Amino acid sequence: MRILVTGGAGFLGSHLCERLLNEGNDVICLDNLFTGSKDNIIHLMDNHRFELIRHDIVEPILLEVDRIYNLACPASPVHYQYNPVKTVKTSVMGMINMLGMAKRVKARILQASTSEVYGDPQVHPQREDYWGNVNPIGIRSCYDEGKRVAETLMMDYHRQNKVDIRIIRIFNTYGPRMAENDGRVVSNFMLQALKNEDITVFGEGRQTRSFCYVSDLIDGMIKMMENEQGFIGPVNLGNPVENSILEFAEKIITITGSKSKIINKPLPQDDPKQRRPDITLAQEKLGWQPVVDLETGLKTTADYFAARCNRG
Ligand code: NAD
Ligand code: UDP
Repeated sequence: MRILVTGGAGFLGSHLCERLLNEGNDVICLDNLFTGSKDNIIHLMDNHRFELIRHDIVEPILLEVDRIYNLACPASPVHYQYNPVKTVKTSVMGMINMLGMAKRVKARILQASTSEVYGDPQVHPQREDYWGNVNPIGIRSCYDEGKRVAETLMMDYHRQNKVDIRIIRIFNTYGPRMAENDGRVVSNFMLQALKNEDITVFGEGRQTRSFCYVSDLIDGMIKMMENEQGFIGPVNLGNPVENSILEFAEKIITITGSKSKIINKPLPQDDPKQRRPDITLAQEKLGWQPVVDLETGLKTTADYFAARCNRG
């Protein structure tokens, strides 16, 4: 198949491009390189079935493809708050452009949505039928509400134009090729631990997250795209093992053998207090569940960050 991956030079996108190429597909990676990098896909450039197009999905583009994975969007709070208006445009206008393409060429389209559509959830763990608790005017809403509108657009193109859609709600995912400067908890703690610097736990670290290793996430993403049961509603993809951020900091110190101390910094505005996916739907409909445990995944990720640190 000919497959378009928007955001293909980013963390998740680069792993997805690699996997799709290995499975024998032609892959077009479309990226404006805002948070992604050529380094992430340099090893794919020699493959004649791989193509990079430097393009911003806010602008229309004409391509002929069989599948569209729409991942283009800055994902870390530091990056998506850098230019919040652009973040909304990327989610909304980018989604319209990609849905227009899907409609025109009858491609199947998958949207990388997020656990952030649940906001600061009052239902725990989060099931797909929970409508969420999102602040529409806060500093995270450019991302959360942008992604919620993108889901709305997917549903309306499906109902109105019979576009073949898939929606996944991704929970915190980590692994090699996360950007070092993206301010997310995994990259921050890893780099701080490896340099024996203080580990910055925001608030008291009692807020929870559930971390999924990248290879598991990519498996689920492809299973969802190729699921032949038609549209089964949005599906959560994540690892249900939940940790407090303080426990997470302690784990990273142990795994890296670091001498770092833990310090506390102010909790950012609207930081969700708890997050854990209910993955029953993915288990039942896709036969998917994560297989990489946190220790194994964090060791591989630590090796990646250590190599980056040594390179200077
Ligand atoms: P990332 O920042 O590494 O990748 C995003 C990619 O999109 C980058 O390569 C960036 O350059 C590109 N991009 C951004 N705006 C663009 C635009 N206007 N036009 C073209 N390209 C653009 O982030 P990631 O972690 O790989 O996330 C990928 C997708 O998955 C995002 O849509 C994100 O919202 C979603 N997601 C990720 C996580 C996670 O934990 N990693 C969790 C939930 C959802
Ligand atoms: N966090 C932290 N220290 C850091 C970076 C993040 O304690 O240096 C916390 C952050 O407040 C949040 C959690 O870790 O509670 C996950 O943050 P991240 O930005 O990775 O993702 P998100 O909040 O979008 O889940």
